[in-house]
Formats: sequence, C-alpha cells, structure tokens
Amino acid sequence: MDEKIKYPPSQEEFFKQAMERFECTQCGTCCQGEGGIYLTQEEIDRIAIFLNLSPREFLEKFCLEKNGRIYIHTREDGYCYFSQEGRCSIHAVKPDPCRRWPFFPPMLVDQANWETVRNSCPALAPFKTLDDYLKNRIL
Ligand code: SF4
Ligand code: SF4
Repeated sequence: MDEKIKYPPSQEEFFKQAMERFECTQCGTCCQGEGGIYLTQEEIDRIAIFLNLSPREFLEKFCLEKNGRIYIHTREDGYCYFSQEGRCSIHAVKPDPCRRWPFFPPMLVDQANWETVRNSCPALAPFKTLDDYLKNRIL
C-alpha cells in the first residue's frame, strides 16, 4: 500500500510554495519524541542502502515495531537516532513525514492545526496564519 502523504492539486501547490519559503532554525525540536515517524518498506530500503546496511540490520539497529508499523527508534536523550545538533544525518533519504514537516495537509486548511504546529516550530512562530507566512516570505 502506498502510504505517502497526498495533497489535492491546489494544496500540493500551496505546499510547494510554503516549502520554498521555509527557513528551518535547526532547533531540532521536531526530531524529539518516541516513535512518531513510521516507515514504509520503500523508506526502509532506501535508508538501509544509504547507511550501507541490509534492511534487516537497519530494522534491528534503528527501529521498533508498534501496532503493526515500523517506527524509527529514539536515543536515550529522547531524540531520533538520526538527529545531530538540529540536523538530520539521513536528510537525503529521510522519510516522507519528515520531508513534509511542518506543512502537513491539515494545517494548510485549518487554522487550529496551523496554531498547533506553529507552537512547536519556532520557524513558524512569527506567522499567525498560512497566508501571513506566504505573504511575508520573499523568494
Ligand atoms: S529522520 Fe531525520 S528529520 Fe526525521 S525525525 Fe529523524 S532526524 Fe528528524
Ligand atoms: S521545529 Fe521547525 S525550526 Fe525546529 S528543526 Fe523542526 S522544522 Fe526546523
């Protein structure tokens, strides 16, 4: 099953515009917390190749299974195994939810969701709405 996040065409365009304007502060907050990022088989395979591991080795070293899904595990400090000083050490092959953060479909259409994400991402904190964000970011 294809588990990639999908946007209707107009939201996909919104997403692209939002991402083009995004300036991550590399605070690392979004890479903290246990078991938030689950992986598809395609993601497991591509990350394993990137790390020069077999899929089985990757699963054993870096993942846990929960409710029938595979998640990236966290270190003892509570951060994702691949978080390094606010940067992602597997950036080139990171999972779809990480590529899409912080602009998930629900926050593009719902102000309450925008508020929730804005409160956890300092790069969005100055912007009260998505429109506000898009208007104030000059390409
Ligand atoms: S894979 Fe990378 S971007 Fe995703 S949570 Fe881990 S460190 Fe963060
Ligand atoms: S919370 Fe926002 S600013 Fe901080 S690392 Fe994540 S995306 Fe970047």
